[in-house]
Amino acid sequence: MSLRRKTKTDIDYARLREKMVEDQLRRRDVRDQLVLAAMSKVERHLFVPQKHRSRAYDDCPQAIGHDQTISQPYIVASMTEHLDIDRDSKVLEIGTGCGYQSAILAEIARKVYTIERIPQLYTMARRNLQQTGYRDIECRFGDGSAGWPEAAPFDGIIVTAAAPRVPEALFDQLAPQGVLVIPLEVGGLHHQDLIKFHRTPQGIVRETLYQVRFVPMRGDVEE
Ligand code: SAM
Repeated sequence: MSLRRKTKTDIDYARLREKMVEDQLRRRDVRDQLVLAAMSKVERHLFVPQKHRSRAYDDCPQAIGHDQTISQPYIVASMTEHLDIDRDSKVLEIGTGCGYQSAILAEIARKVYTIERIPQLYTMARRNLQQTGYRDIECRFGDGSAGWPEAAPFDGIIVTAAAPRVPEALFDQLAPQGVLVIPLEVGGLHHQDLIKFHRTPQGIVRETLYQVRFVPMRGDVEE
């Protein structure tokens, strides 16, 4: 038996991913089979910077550069589950980051659109998505506060940065029965709640899910 220390190339990422799904998702409250299958499949370690790869499946967010993060696996899964999407859905994501959440959405939905405002992350996400085979995702560089009007309406809209308010354009671009999931700063900068808005025939229904901690959403939404 070799006594040499395990190198990074020896790491069994498939096993780490399986354990992440079991311990962090199934043992908590993630039940949607489409979400669990997507989280089991997408190779999260290929989306994070090389130096953080060995920790990609840890139960916490990871730095992706430019003061931004990839969310904790549980938060990615839970937000996706709350979107209530399926194979027929068209989805918009604001805040592409490294592209991991976009890949999870693409495993479930018919079509995914995603917007990122930091040019280096936009480029990195496109490269990550190309290299991992998610070539069908539409990526846009810019301020997601305006949504993506040409591609609307969306069955699901997910915002992965904390906003002081919901950009009006996102409500306008939500399909009938559509769901918008967004972290909102409530009662000051340091308290954020994850909010689910559901468009019903009677109007928009607001539900507070749980407290979260996201990087801030920048751009027009700040005005
Ligand atoms: N979903 C990402 C992933 O899987 O890596 C993580 C997103 S990170 C928590 C939040 C991202 O939102 C950052 O990349 C940030 O630059 C981006 N962002 C912030 N404000 C934005 C805006 N107005 N429009 C588009 N992207 C924005």
